[in-house]
Amino acid sequence: MTAQAIDFDKQALKEKYREERDKRLRTDGNEQYVEIKTHFPELLEDPYVAKQERAPKTDHVKFTFIGGGFAGLVVGARVKEAGIDDVRILEKGGDFGGTWYWNRYPGAQCDTAAMIYMPLLEETGHMPSEKYVHAPEILEQCQRIGKQYDLYDNALFHTEVQELTWDEDKGVWHVRTNRGDDFTTQYIGMGTGPLHVPKLPGIPGLETFKGHAFHTSRWDYDYTGGDAKGALMENLKDKRVVIIGTGATSVQAVPHLARACGKLYVVQRTPSSVDVRDNGPIDPDWFKSIAEPGWQQKWLMNFTANQTGQWAEEDLVQDGWTDLSKRIWSKIKALPEDKRTPQDMMDAWEDSDFEKMEEIRARVDTIVGEPETAQKLKAWYRQLCKRPCFHDQYLDAFNNPSTELLDTNGKGVESIDETGFTVNGQHYDVDCIIYASGFEVGTSHERRAGFDMVGRDGEKLSEHWQEGMRTKHGIHMHGFPNAFIVQPTQGANLISNVPHNIADSGLTIAAILGHAEKVGASRVEVTKEAEQAWFDLLATNAGRMLGSQDCTPGYYNNEGQDPGSQSAMNVGYPAGALAYFNYIDGWRNDGKFDGLDFS
Ligand code: NDP
Repeated sequence: MTAQAIDFDKQALKEKYREERDKRLRTDGNEQYVEIKTHFPELLEDPYVAKQERAPKTDHVKFTFIGGGFAGLVVGARVKEAGIDDVRILEKGGDFGGTWYWNRYPGAQCDTAAMIYMPLLEETGHMPSEKYVHAPEILEQCQRIGKQYDLYDNALFHTEVQELTWDEDKGVWHVRTNRGDDFTTQYIGMGTGPLHVPKLPGIPGLETFKGHAFHTSRWDYDYTGGDAKGALMENLKDKRVVIIGTGATSVQAVPHLARACGKLYVVQRTPSSVDVRDNGPIDPDWFKSIAEPGWQQKWLMNFTANQTGQWAEEDLVQDGWTDLSKRIWSKIKALPEDKRTPQDMMDAWEDSDFEKMEEIRARVDTIVGEPETAQKLKAWYRQLCKRPCFHDQYLDAFNNPSTELLDTNGKGVESIDETGFTVNGQHYDVDCIIYASGFEVGTSHERRAGFDMVGRDGEKLSEHWQEGMRTKHGIHMHGFPNAFIVQPTQGANLISNVPHNIADSGLTIAAILGHAEKVGASRVEVTKEAEQAWFDLLATNAGRMLGSQDCTPGYYNNEGQDPGSQSAMNVGYPAGALAYFNYIDGWRNDGKFDGLDFS
């Protein structure tokens, strides 16, 4: 798609964006949400797989990984390939899958193209069925990896770590869990994911509702009928249902609810920007033609290049993300040489953003029949203020006579009582409340993980990170030997395709452990100097792309509140994601593992 010239009044738009942000700002930030674990633990119960009784583990394993989502699976697979067979994955769900284990709501689908999002496609030989696959297929891919790499054998499901402590004398980690396990492990990996603790809005009277209620990440198909593959939820045909929230989850679930419910209310505090989806099946002949050895790595790097302005010759993925980035960079490149100051480049980016958002707003009018509803569904903020959404049925759902948008002018639900809820001063009776209210992001790492790991000399990770995150490569911490974290920050920090960061960390960790085996080392730790050097390098970063305080509040910008100086280090490699992937490839392949001590 090429950028079209669209007329707009820049100043008026800026003013409108500011107004929309200001009316949503609130002083309680993350405190507006209720921690489900302490207030409504029953809403966290696993509706999908029954918990199996088992004896606690008191043995020793070589490599343990906390989290059975993409991170655990990919690292587990790579570590096994490196010759370490004794691998145990701990997972709070009843199977592998992580996000895709929990999020089985109708319509759940990945917004990132399957060719680059689904891990280990080449290794498993799986061809994605669609450009953007639906959740059940991603869950199956997780299970496929688990089976292919024998990761099920030693896995512990429905198990949450409570304590993780380094034993300097024995050179092992002690792992204690909520299932009574108390075992040791030589190496520990952690990949608990950024969005795995569901949260509820702290609406007055939340606890008084007498009807049925659940969070989207614990979809109750026993109540609704239907299934995760999108079968009609026939039990809802006589029901009045409200879905609270209009983020990426709600955008995917609403079309299914609209078609099933007797009456559906969609409560909106801030509209999502909803761009074209344009999904379609993958042609097996085409797939065969491109699937030469190394194809997935090539696609990953191509996407990253096109996302970060370092153009590859062709755009293999061609999705909303590469389109967005192409528009921004073509505007910047169109600037005359003498007009490429940082400010000019920021202005060019802003122009491209205004254009894109005008297109997205205009799209609403072409789909939604009722003009007042269409107006309310328009997003008034810059595109990366909130998670951009892509969907071809969401807006159309509001043409369904039984579906009603309840826009709250940025205020949210006023109250809940025994029979329903109140917005804009009006009470609505409902049979069921569905909370599409998202996941904890701005809370402390240890609250989300459920434990605070204790390294050498009793130092806790929260203490190590008191002034902000400190790692080398986003993986190693000094004082925490034989421990590896798997997440994007302080590495490539490629947010538009998190699995690329994970896949890369899998290769890095496997290379390190393979080297340790080769040289007969039983411990590996980043030196203090190397950790500091990485910190200093990251500190030269120009800034973050996400999280502007000019944005409407949300989890991208700490709900509009100053995230504090600690967050300054939540950045990636200063030269960008593509440069990081190239750098780390060299680092792990030159055999020196600079900055790590093996003993
Ligand atoms: P979000 O945090 O994005 O959305 C929560 C929603 O709840 C927002 O619309 C929020 O409004 C609303 N809300 C919160 N409090 C209230 C209240 N008191 N009254 C009314 N509404 C309220 O959660 P999601 O589960 O939608 O998405 C989380 C993330 O998961 C996404 O950002 C994305 O990263 C990922 N995801 C990815 C998908 C994919 O395709 N890959 C699909 C689905 C999710 P407000 O905006 O005003 O705060």
